[in-house]
This record gives sequence, C-alpha cells and structure tokens, in this order.
Amino acid sequence: MRSIPTGEVRVGAEGRSTMGPGHLAVAFAAKPVASKVPLGVLLVASEALDLMCFGFVAVGLEKFGVTQTDLVHGIRILVPGSIPWSHGLFMSLVWSGVAAAIAFLVYRDRRAGAILGLVVFSHWLLDFIVHPGELPLLFNGSPTVGLGLWASGPGLILSGILEFVMLGGGLAIYLAARKRTLPRAIA
Ligand SMILES: [Zn+2]
Repeated sequence: MRSIPTGEVRVGAEGRSTMGPGHLAVAFAAKPVASKVPLGVLLVASEALDLMCFGFVAVGLEKFGVTQTDLVHGIRILVPGSIPWSHGLFMSLVWSGVAAAIAFLVYRDRRAGAILGLVVFSHWLLDFIVHPGELPLLFNGSPTVGLGLWASGPGLILSGILEFVMLGGGLAIYLAARKRTLPRAIA
C-alpha cells in the first residue's frame, strides 16, 4: 500500500471539513425576519445537518470519508463517505420541512416556521457550493453533487475568506436590526 504523500489526511469528508462561519452567518442574518425565534435556535438550525451527521455517524448510519487537505489541491476525497441521511438533497429537504413544522407549532407563527426551514436548508445550499461532488441527491448509490469550491487550493482559501465576509455581513444585519428595535422596546 502506498503511503499518502504530504498534506493533512483526515477522516471526515463531511463533518470535519465543515463550513462554520458561513452557516452561522445565515442564522444571524435571519434573526431580524424571525423575531419570535431565539438566536440560539437559528444558530443550531444553521448547523443542524452537521449535528445530525455526527449523530448518524455515532450510531453507524453514516460514515465519514477520508480526505486529504492541502493549500495546493484543496480538499481531495480519498475514500468517499456516506452521508445521505444528513446531507442528501432529499433528506435535507425533509429535515427542513420537519424543522419548519416544529417551529410553526412552537411559535404559532407561519413566518417563524418558514424562516427556520429555510435556515436549515441553507446549510445544504452552502455545502453544495463548497463540497467536492459528495452530496447525494437521494440515498446511497444515487448521483452525488457539489460544485467543489473546496476542490482547489485557491478555492479553499477563497471560501475561507468568503465565510468570514459572510459572517461579518450576517452580524452587521443582526446588530443593525437590534439597534433599531431596542429603543422601541424600552420606550
Ligand atoms: Zn454540512
């Protein structure tokens, strides 16, 4: 067996190579239009698919792939993982619908439900942009997709920069809205 050359080899086609700030940015940006939903709930919703992925891997329903990451080639998949229950397009839509329904029941607010569902699904859309083609459309054996911004060194660096720009933008939207509503709440 040939040993793998330079670069960091790690287990986690999904999960470990996870987008953080980009997903959280969506939650911050969504807060002003979902006033009934606590920020913490929106933040968890934005990362719900990754959290489920960890849970599904723990119970053996999914498995991480093996990836190699370096700044020349970006993230390369050495051994594909299996993540249809958390990151398949179909199940992501199902989870988004479930989240929307729960939020609607809890907050008795249609908009809160719709926004929470969209925040959950935004995770898949952002992952679709950055992941190499490893996101299944349905279940195991179905075609996998991913635009693969992470699949090149420059792309990986660009995505890192974009994530923090997004987080800055999301926070700015959140803080601006808070500033607008706070004085009214006191008055
Ligand atoms: Zn993910």
